[in-house]
Amino acid sequence: MRERNATGIGMTSQRTRDRLVEALAAQGIQDERVLTALREVPRHLFVDEALESRAYENTPLPIGEGQTISQPWVVARMTELLLEPGVPERVLEVGTGSGYQAAVLARLVPRVYSIERIGSLLRRARERLQAARLFNCQLRHGDGYEGWPEYAPYDGIIVTAAPEALPQALLEQLAEGGRLVAPVGGAGYQELLVVDRHGDEYQQRKVAGVSFVPMLKGRT
Ligand code: SAH
Repeated sequence: MRERNATGIGMTSQRTRDRLVEALAAQGIQDERVLTALREVPRHLFVDEALESRAYENTPLPIGEGQTISQPWVVARMTELLLEPGVPERVLEVGTGSGYQAAVLARLVPRVYSIERIGSLLRRARERLQAARLFNCQLRHGDGYEGWPEYAPYDGIIVTAAPEALPQALLEQLAEGGRLVAPVGGAGYQELLVVDRHGDEYQQRKVAGVSFVPMLKGRT
């Protein structure tokens, strides 16, 4: 890890992290693999130093450019849903943001591909993932509405910004038997959807109400 408070004292200690994980388990997160990953990934290294002391609260936090690092419960739940049919070999994430969700995935699946439309966030996420010595994440500056065709199909796709409708390219880049997890809806409130692909059929169900930043077109 980065030298910055790497040992973790006070509000960023392993004990504080353990307490968050206990709270997540009490709130229904059952997959031990996911709980272990959240126990191991130091969320405080994925936010600015000024917010470090709040990193293990179960809340979203600002990461600059008007974007947020997702609430730990949401990260845990989406990851749990993604792993439910079996550990995916390759996962595509849309919305790298801080890189935290990618870091959690990198502990659990062989290959993570993550796309971010804001260049400055992507650069910071890349540094953080390198500092965390997670080398199985590949990042790309691009528009998630187009997916990442070069490495498709993906056994799992996780969308961490909210589109108004499921993007067609992502459905096409989902592998046979694969699962996509995405918040879909307008500003402020969305349904978290799970979509399973069987051949050309897509089975869809709603699992929770969530609130994500909007998925925007183009890159900056
Ligand atoms: N997974 C992130 C959460 C980031 S918030 C984390 O763990 O920190 C959502 C992110 O999605 C923002 O950084 C935003 O810039 C990005 N985003 C929004 N629309 C996008 C698009 N079309 N393609 C790629 N990224 C997008």
